Amino acid sequence: MKRVVSGIKPTGDLTLGNYIGAMKRWGQMSADPDREHFFFVPNLHALTVRPDPETLHRNSRSAVAWLIASGVDHDHSYIFMQSQVPAHAELMWILNNYVTMGELNRMTQFKDKSSKSAAEGQLVGLYDYPVLMAADILLYDADEVPTGEDQKQHVELTRDIATRFNNIHGETFKIPQPTVQEVGARIMNLQDPTRKMSKSDTDDSGNILLSDDEKTIEKKILKAVTDSGSVVSSGADKPALSNLLVIMSVLTDKPVTELEEKYATAGYGRFKQELAEVVVHGLKPLQHVHEQLMHEGNDKIDKALEHGWWRASELANAKLAQVKEVLGLL
Ligand code: ATP
Ligand code: MG
Repeated sequence: MKRVVSGIKPTGDLTLGNYIGAMKRWGQMSADPDREHFFFVPNLHALTVRPDPETLHRNSRSAVAWLIASGVDHDHSYIFMQSQVPAHAELMWILNNYVTMGELNRMTQFKDKSSKSAAEGQLVGLYDYPVLMAADILLYDADEVPTGEDQKQHVELTRDIATRFNNIHGETFKIPQPTVQEVGARIMNLQDPTRKMSKSDTDDSGNILLSDDEKTIEKKILKAVTDSGSVVSSGADKPALSNLLVIMSVLTDKPVTELEEKYATAGYGRFKQELAEVVVHGLKPLQHVHEQLMHEGNDKIDKALEHGWWRASELANAKLAQVKEVLGLL
């Protein structure tokens, strides 16, 4: 059976970009009986932003709730918390010896994120992040890693690390494939369409959060920057409208070309108003489930995590034992 592994970091309130680029698809794919799915919450990865403990704890549980709300079937697939499976951190240390600083220096996410912080924010954890991610994937012999566009480079590095290890020590790791959807793999910030929407941004005016209420969603979309001209259309010279059209396309299941025809002469104002309705309507059922799950006394999150932990530990511990034996680690 093929295995699918992916994760959502608890670094802040989840955004519409996370949902459109990743979780919506995870929800749909998790029902496929021919694949075993693992969707985990990489809370160790979140330490790179040094969150306060309460916030990290709350965001981690909230991420699980959003996974379930996005339709991830937690009976037939596995949701688990990274820190509860210690093999991730252990394999990362091992894999650190199969990757070079030159390779990590080339990672665009590290370049982006480290350039935004002062010297004291340039943590080794941020630099080493792709190696922990490689461990996350390789522990499960994943065949596929469904992510947004921004994570593709990290999955490619994972492939290089696995190939190198296999060449030296013999067939140990499966080489995973990144799978990136065609439309919606990179949702941009509504205030700056040259930057991707990111949940760890401190300014949320250009990010739609999955938890935003109706009024906030409407305000953010109506205030979204647009491009020059007045025709609603997409193209390289229209990054802002292209982004808004993609959001509508994914949430309505209609191709961008059809929406361009429909709204060409509608004017930016009416188009944005209707987009706001689509987003509000699209998120409402998820918000409802999320709210119920986060309610005190609801033990569904814990049950889902326990179920996931059991299967994840079984696979991860077996793979780690195999790697240790190969390396002569007693
Ligand atoms: P952070 O700012 O902490 O890196 P993030 O918003 O980038 O947060 P991640 O936890 O890094 O979220 O990524 C979770 C998943 O969401 C990944 O599959 C990633 O590719 C996808 N993703 C993140 N941002 C976007 C986006 N703007 N558009 C589409 N997919 C996205
Ligand atoms: Mg990210």
